[in-house]
Amino acid sequence: MTSAFKLNPEQLKAVEHGEGPLLIIAGPGSGKTRVITQRIVHLLTGAGSAVEEPGLLPDFPTPAGRSEEYSGAGIQPENILALTFTEKAAREMQRRVREALPELEALPHISTFHAFCYEVLRKRHFERTLLDKVDVWIFLRQRMESLGLQFYQKLAEPGAFLHSLNDFFSRCQDELIEPADFERYAEAMDREFQELSPSLDAAERTLMQQDIQKKQELARVFRNSRKLIEEAGSSSLGSLIPETVRLFDREPEVLESYRQLFRYVLVDEFQDTNYAQVELLKRLVKPPLSITAVGDDDQAIYRFRGASHGAFKMFDEAFPGHETVFLDTNFRSTKRILRAAEVLIAKNDRYQAKPHLQTSREEGAPVYLLQSPDFLSEAAWMADEVARLIQHGTPPGDIAVLYRAHGYRDPLVEQFRRRKIPFAIRGLSILSTVILRDLVAYLNIIHSPHDTVSLTRVLLTPRWNFPEDLALEARKQASRDHCSLCDVLESWGRSGAANRLEGTGWPELRRLLGELHKYAEHASVTALLERLIGRLELSFLPQDHDGAYVEAFRKFLEKWEGKSESRELGSFWEYFQYFREAGGQIEAPEPENSARAVQMMSVHAAKGLEFPVVFILSVAPRRFPHSEQKAVIEFPEALRKGPPPPANIHEQEERRLLYVGLTRAEDRLYVSSVAKSGKKPSLFISDLASNPTVEARDLERIQVPEAPPETVEAPRMQPVPRERPSAPKPQGSLFGDATGASGIHPPLNEWASHTFVIKPEEKLQLSASAIETYDACPQKFMFSHYMKIPTGPQAALTFGNIMHQCARRYFELRRQGPVQFEQLQVHFEQIWKGAGFEDDYQEQAYKKAGLEQLRVFVSRHETVTMLPLAAEAHFSLDLGDVVLEGRIDQINPLPDHSVELVDYKTGRPPSQKDADKSLQLSVYALAARDQMHLNPTRLTFYSLTNNEAVRTVRTPKDLDLVVGEIHEVATQIRKQLFPPQPGFACKYCDYELICPAHEESL
Ligand code: SF4
Repeated sequence: MTSAFKLNPEQLKAVEHGEGPLLIIAGPGSGKTRVITQRIVHLLTGAGSAVEEPGLLPDFPTPAGRSEEYSGAGIQPENILALTFTEKAAREMQRRVREALPELEALPHISTFHAFCYEVLRKRHFERTLLDKVDVWIFLRQRMESLGLQFYQKLAEPGAFLHSLNDFFSRCQDELIEPADFERYAEAMDREFQELSPSLDAAERTLMQQDIQKKQELARVFRNSRKLIEEAGSSSLGSLIPETVRLFDREPEVLESYRQLFRYVLVDEFQDTNYAQVELLKRLVKPPLSITAVGDDDQAIYRFRGASHGAFKMFDEAFPGHETVFLDTNFRSTKRILRAAEVLIAKNDRYQAKPHLQTSREEGAPVYLLQSPDFLSEAAWMADEVARLIQHGTPPGDIAVLYRAHGYRDPLVEQFRRRKIPFAIRGLSILSTVILRDLVAYLNIIHSPHDTVSLTRVLLTPRWNFPEDLALEARKQASRDHCSLCDVLESWGRSGAANRLEGTGWPELRRLLGELHKYAEHASVTALLERLIGRLELSFLPQDHDGAYVEAFRKFLEKWEGKSESRELGSFWEYFQYFREAGGQIEAPEPENSARAVQMMSVHAAKGLEFPVVFILSVAPRRFPHSEQKAVIEFPEALRKGPPPPANIHEQEERRLLYVGLTRAEDRLYVSSVAKSGKKPSLFISDLASNPTVEARDLERIQVPEAPPETVEAPRMQPVPRERPSAPKPQGSLFGDATGASGIHPPLNEWASHTFVIKPEEKLQLSASAIETYDACPQKFMFSHYMKIPTGPQAALTFGNIMHQCARRYFELRRQGPVQFEQLQVHFEQIWKGAGFEDDYQEQAYKKAGLEQLRVFVSRHETVTMLPLAAEAHFSLDLGDVVLEGRIDQINPLPDHSVELVDYKTGRPPSQKDADKSLQLSVYALAARDQMHLNPTRLTFYSLTNNEAVRTVRTPKDLDLVVGEIHEVATQIRKQLFPPQPGFACKYCDYELICPAHEESL
């Protein structure tokens, strides 16, 4: 059987290995999956072990009492356990075994570690709902009050630490650390502190105490979250392996039945195992330890998912005396590609010396090392080269572009679009596709008609024929009246302004939303989606991407309905908000025509794949190797059970990742570096060029010229005159003859590039916060300042407003005499508003924190004798082409007749650097000096959070510079430059749903 697959001698040795432990170190492209499946086939069909009684084979081993039946009677499928890490890999292994042995009635047990453990536990009456990472986040977010959080919580974003906490607990579980173990660890730390305490100074004592309190909190939350999850009849994915290990330790007879049954255990991608998984294997495999581990330490790239860096060392210890087979024949790449890849990976520490990769392939083309001056030139050159290759006959699907992080592909995507090069992005979430953003906007306003951002998106659709100037007028009124866009349109409809809505689609849209809102009161959310699609008259052709995305969303809804009690829109909406906040993604199905398009994906996603042509994008400092992101909650080294990591573990893992990327290439490989002239390239570029022989023989450097501006300029940088949307076709059908989803897509790009009339003589009215918004993201500034799109209340703003009012009230009361905290408390309770809080937990947490902060505020100010000169002092400072507007929170007199300007802060206490750089304080100082004719010698951020003041000053020169910066911003605004600046802040931006930077129109 095995010879039919033309195995080479090393492969054959691995496949035909007898009993006892075997480690197969399989280089890239060396036929690892073939070997592991052929080994299974060989075990099943080897001498005297053909599948004889397939009828006896169960779906899954029934452990108790079966061992005798099978012992010594040849290898039956149920005697084989093959474990891997992903469902996809498990399915592929099953497929190959089935293909090799079509007559087999039942397959061996081939699954992921997690699925195997779940089955083992389920057979012990373990009926639990499994929670993945996002599920755990949502579960804990809904039970925040029961967790016992103190340090690890953020008022403005209650779920901010939940992923970090869950990652930490998973990390503990990977090391088989239980809540009780961690409690003991925290207690030991505390005992040590008590002993050391007398010898410590105050600062050291405080630091150590805080550290211990944090550890105690971790122990508490670990225990509480575990208890909550179990009481709800659930289990986190991360807990399955430790729970199975515990079961085996607690019930040796159960373990023994599995040990008897699984005479051969095979593990694929062994380099990705962690301590808990190795412990599980140690228990499962009985003498003569017939375990086969296949993997490659050079391709260990999943440390972030919990893989240990030292899996093979653990294998040595767990299964001593194992045989090692190296699969060092690469069937994939040319010699030059392999030599270049080996030069890179040789810079890493490796498990043990291994033979060089061999190949019978030709020398091949050189490895092209591109050097670009910037990312846009890189993208332009690369797109030209891809176009050239396609023109010369390379099918687009043979070309892959790999990148370290998804955000890096954007300039190249733009260049592909310009050249009409077909491309398909793997790992895309459907939630960023236009059709889903459209449907989500509709569902938003069905659920809450006052969601102005969603209604703005929907009204932009040409079908609703709602002119932008009318929409702008309505939004302006909504901003002025502090109400929603829907409120304004409703009020126009009721009043004499109704005629303004004539000819627009608003009456029809309003009827549709009303009908669907009513329907949603009793229908399931999937039924609602169906009806919405029906009412919008959307139909999708089989090859239409949008249809596949909608189908994936429908499945997501169905899955949620399976877990939900109510299945209605209201509960779905709460879940969906959390799902988004937790970073949940719904992966897009692979497009039908992806084989005819250039493949774009992260290097991680490319593992296991191969392409004739590979481009590695942006091997640049801080991009590749990627900057290290340390875990927010570090796992204590003292608790580590596996081998200690090397000091430069991050750099080594990044190098392995690039090695994985390089070795995906069969024939042509381009490695693209970006560095300005005179600047150092990425460390990995130096690594690749570190062997003079290989550099001279195998690498070819290409200097990419700087692309001309017209090639690279992002179209959104320039204002584009807005085209008025065309009117709908006046058929009986609501949407005329529209098919597909194009009829509901808003022209976001054109709309967001809207130009405004700003007369040269008109003074721009700006505030410090408006300028800061422009600096952070001009597009956001435009949405709020010119588009006048009101957003809903936000908890942090509501709270900040209340606390400002309380501080002001305090000084009003002080003018009448001493102030008690209780007086301020009464005021606080009176002005409290529930607007914008995510839920009761957040509101109560804010309330509690606010009262505590005010209590300290009162006590800190008891001895203050100088009362403020003014509070909330309004200014309107004319700077020529700009008028600066604002209010100074408080002006205090100083003994030398100068003044202190105070800005109260809630939220994260500002640092000294924040104060020194603050535009707001600079603007205060300018207004106080130039309009109020005061002498501001002290500028203060007063944090109500910790009741600490941070002080700074501004010199006249500083203020001149600030005026210059303000004029610079004004010039940009007059030029109407409002490019989006996508980045981390987008997560908190209310305009994300209407922001063109987030629209993946593929
Ligand atoms: S989503 Fe991001 S890029 Fe878009 S407007 Fe908001 S901050 Fe700017």
